[in-house]
Amino acid sequence: IWDLEKLKERMPIYSHDQYDGTTRPDEDEHFFDKTGKKIEGAVFTPGSGYVSDPQLSSHNLQVAAEAKGGEFLFNKEITEIRQENGKVVGVTLKSGEQIDAPVVVNVAGPHSFVINQMAGVEEEMNIKTKALRHEVHHVPSPDGFDFEKDGFHTSDGDNSIYFRPETGNTILIGSEDPLCDPKEWIEDPDDYNNQVTESQWKAQVYRCARRIPDLKIPSRTSGVVDLYDVSDDWIPIYDKSALRGFYMAIGSSGNQFKNAPVAGHCMAELIDACEKGHDHDANPLKVKTVYTGLELNMGFYSRNREINPNSSFSVNG
Ligand SMILES: Cc1cc2nc3c(=O)[nH]c(=O)nc-3n(C[C@H](O)[C@H](O)[C@H](O)COP(=O)(O)OP(=O)(O)OC[C@H]3O[C@@H](n4cnc5c(N)ncnc54)[C@H](O)[C@@H]3O)c2cc1C
Repeated sequence: IWDLEKLKERMPIYSHDQYDGTTRPDEDEHFFDKTGKKIEGAVFTPGSGYVSDPQLSSHNLQVAAEAKGGEFLFNKEITEIRQENGKVVGVTLKSGEQIDAPVVVNVAGPHSFVINQMAGVEEEMNIKTKALRHEVHHVPSPDGFDFEKDGFHTSDGDNSIYFRPETGNTILIGSEDPLCDPKEWIEDPDDYNNQVTESQWKAQVYRCARRIPDLKIPSRTSGVVDLYDVSDDWIPIYDKSALRGFYMAIGSSGNQFKNAPVAGHCMAELIDACEKGHDHDANPLKVKTVYTGLELNMGFYSRNREINPNSSFSVNG
């Protein structure tokens, strides 16, 4: 736990002011009004971190999978999940090519609901997934401070944002999904506005300026727009399905990239057990994690769970 003195020492650019909840700057003329109270301090997690090159990190995962005999087919679209007698038997590609497989796993990200509908398993699921449009924004670090070198990934619940160092001494700002922000659910994940909008840019960047008062706000917007694959309670689904041999690791809800290795381990254990006849729906599998030895009850991630009321219903899961 850092008190305000320690926070000032490590992050001199952060204001300690509290604000009266999160609003949108273009709807609230008192947006920058402070309550007069100070935050109490910060929770520092020395072991935490972030990946600022997702392409390299995905490539690393690819190479690691290939070293174990995995094979990747790029730019091929699956158009059919083939099945016989209630059991998956393979997939068909857009080219017409068929690939036979006794096990198929839906890891289609924001297209997960499309693939589940293709397999005919979505109806039976209690928790479903949808694609949600999301923006992250880039701004330069304040003058005289090297945020890329000395900054931390910071979750600022008071302002419903997270921000972290980005290459070129910039700050990447993302949203923690406050209720006042409209949710843009996307019906067709192949057709959405992938340009940063002025309104959301202003919302997230101005919120960051409440915590970093010296933030330079450029006149030109800059950022990345993409889709989250959001489950009904923002907790992922790592599970089997009603179709034998068809599994899913979906509903990453904007936050499971860092959990990918653990998710992969859990899915491998789950698939192995189910293929050997384990009834995971009736008797949820418990999986031991490789490095911490923690026991995870995979029923927590079931497609048939009730909506988890303890979820933050945000990117924080
Ligand atoms: C703006 C943004 C910021 C994020 N920030 C973070 C973060 O800070 N930390 C974090 O942990 N996570 C973050 N995430 C979430 C993270 O990106 C996802 O959890 C992660 O990428 C999910 O990986 P995946 O392999 O399951 O799915 P994806 O990476 O979405 O991959 C799915 C793949 O399936 C392919 N596919 C879909 N349909 C078909 C089909 N019919 N045939 C063949 N292929 C198909 C797609 O082309 C894609 O390559 C963020 C997401 C977004 C959008």
